[in-house]
Amino acid sequence: MKKYDIQPDKKGFFGNYGGQIIPDQLKPIFDEIADFYAKIKDTKEFKDEMNYYRKNYIGRPSPIYFAEKLSKKYGGAKIYLKREDLNHTGAHKINHTIGEALIAKKMGKKKIVAETGAGQHGVALATAAAVVGLPCEIHMGEIDIAKQAPNVTRMKILGAKVVPVTQGTKTLKDAVDSAFMEFVKDPQNIFFGIGSVVGPHPFPMMVRDFQRIVGEEAREQFLEMTGKLPDNLVACVGGGSNAIGLFSAFLEDEDVKIYGVEPSGKGLQPGNHAATLTLGEPGNIHGMHTYLLQDKDGNPEPVYSIASGLDYPGVGPQHSFLKDIKRVEYKLASDKECLDSFMELSQLEGIIPALESAHAIAYACKLAADLSPDQTILVNLSGRGDKDIDYVVESLHI
Ligand SMILES: *Cc1c(COP(=O)(O)O)cnc(C)c1O
Repeated sequence: MKKYDIQPDKKGFFGNYGGQIIPDQLKPIFDEIADFYAKIKDTKEFKDEMNYYRKNYIGRPSPIYFAEKLSKKYGGAKIYLKREDLNHTGAHKINHTIGEALIAKKMGKKKIVAETGAGQHGVALATAAAVVGLPCEIHMGEIDIAKQAPNVTRMKILGAKVVPVTQGTKTLKDAVDSAFMEFVKDPQNIFFGIGSVVGPHPFPMMVRDFQRIVGEEAREQFLEMTGKLPDNLVACVGGGSNAIGLFSAFLEDEDVKIYGVEPSGKGLQPGNHAATLTLGEPGNIHGMHTYLLQDKDGNPEPVYSIASGLDYPGVGPQHSFLKDIKRVEYKLASDKECLDSFMELSQLEGIIPALESAHAIAYACKLAADLSPDQTILVNLSGRGDKDIDYVVESLHI
């Protein structure tokens, strides 16, 4: 019996968290996806197909790299990086969007719909939809469209339809509502492509299963490189998909300490951060029960992070479970720490990390300084930072 690396119950709960908090008429749609996924996930055909795309399309396995100069600088534990930045499209998201697109195709869905904030999920989903051969429609706030022109262009080149959202805040929050409204027009034929380990059951489980390859590879690679398991794991947490992907393969190894890193942004006042597990309380958002940054009426609070992939007021329900049972500790890194690590990793190791991943690097460096050189830390480098260079140049005046 596994204690930490658990499956959700029949209703989609990890302990108290998760579920399907959606209108009754939509439950059969999500149950159908859950049943379909359960039926095919362990078949040889589906496994072979996923492995084919992982190897020949995404470029897996991604390597593990020993960041020797970075480790030396902090004078403590040795820091290793799982290089998800080297995947096709430059981040871990392709690991689950390929899985989602294949499921949609096999279920006979006619279209994939999703929202995107900065456009990272939109690009990863548009890529996956192109390769499996399904139309794709991405809803994006008008303000985000103006800010993230290169990703909008990428999605269009990849054949996706980008729908500008002009209501409300004209950002992610309203893009979610807009995409959801499109989905409920024809839920039989439309697949809602969720971007992390969030949303109603079965998505937190299914997206985790697709990301689990990160941890499984890392476990084998790390053992081969060092003869031992890592002493510590570190990953950034937005919705939580790259983190749970790495963590899953080590949860039952109680000697491996595990840290998720949330953005403390500009400070701990409401609206300046997205430290959901550190400062939130259980509540409901996007079809699930989970820790949530919320006002006194239970509405999601505005959130902020320098890394757009981390500014989400909720979090995947399995992380809420892992926090409560104290298997994973959730820590903070600020905008400033993130920017410092972004530059440091670039200049010491020649690797430009995504601003999201730089939060994990920042915490790993602090942790390393407190540990001895016979200790090891494995960081999930969830993506590359090319998307962030203009912003960094502007903020640091370089
Ligand atoms: C989207 C994104 C994240 C945050 O998403 P999770 O689901 O928490 O992994 C982290 N890193 C990169 C590079 C991203 O694009």
